[in-house]
Amino acid sequence: MARADAHSDAILKVANIESYYGPIMAIRGVSLEVPRGKIVTVLGANGAGKTTVLKTISGVLDPQKGSIDFEGKPIQRLSPDRIVRMGLGHVPEGREVFPFLTVAENLSMGAYLRSDRDGIANDLERIYDYFPVLKARLDQAAGHLSGGEQQMLAISRALMNRPRLLLLDEPSLGLSPLLVKEIFSIIRRINQAEGVSILLVEQNAKMALEIAYYGYVLEVGRIVMADSCERLMQSKDVQEFYLGAKEESARGERRWKRKKTWR
Ligand code: ATP
Repeated sequence: MARADAHSDAILKVANIESYYGPIMAIRGVSLEVPRGKIVTVLGANGAGKTTVLKTISGVLDPQKGSIDFEGKPIQRLSPDRIVRMGLGHVPEGREVFPFLTVAENLSMGAYLRSDRDGIANDLERIYDYFPVLKARLDQAAGHLSGGEQQMLAISRALMNRPRLLLLDEPSLGLSPLLVKEIFSIIRRINQAEGVSILLVEQNAKMALEIAYYGYVLEVGRIVMADSCERLMQSKDVQEFYLGAKEESARGERRWKRKKTWR
């Protein structure tokens, strides 16, 4: 098995974390790493615990066990606000933009920790370059944007704080295949041009494996596979359960059976 940190230092190291909702253990001894400058993905079905992993890293949930190191510093019992200030951004599932504020106000909320006006203006220009549609809609209420535009705004708002690591929770959720492609190509650009490391949680395994360097498969709160995305794509289990190969063969079998009946 190739190790995630085989080629560079880790910006994030998660070791053996356990998190609960009341008495329910949602993640059970999860360990993972994000090498600096890379995209790492966590795949898993509905309810596998992907969102819980990200919430635990960003401080929304406190783990009962385990450790989380960001740039070599332990962050596992810090508040979400402290963690954001350290340079770790989180784009939660469902976008969570401020619907009654304008696009411009949402973006300035992302820069609330900063006072460097010139730097903020430069960053806004870079964001309009990634997402021209946001520039065209600066004065509109964020709640009136389409799902894809809200996703773009949520990512942009997190970028305004200049994070060195970005946690992205299902950016493809509810978007058309065309928009999913667009969002993923921008995520890749952000990673390459800005050098932002990314931990990407996704149900869309195909897209995630295409842009990430290393991947983990989460099932019922546990990591069951970890390998380079190249190898995960070739794995029979991943093909069957996450890339839809099983569905195709089942349909093929049904077609074959129907054909037999018709004869
Ligand atoms: P999805 O893709 O549907 O978001 P997920 O892989 O992100 O799924 P989580 O949302 O992390 O999964 O949920 C992991 C487990 O924890 C599930 O069994 C879920 O029902 C449970 N869970 C999540 N949030 C809560 C909560 N607020 N209270 C109680 N249980 C919860």
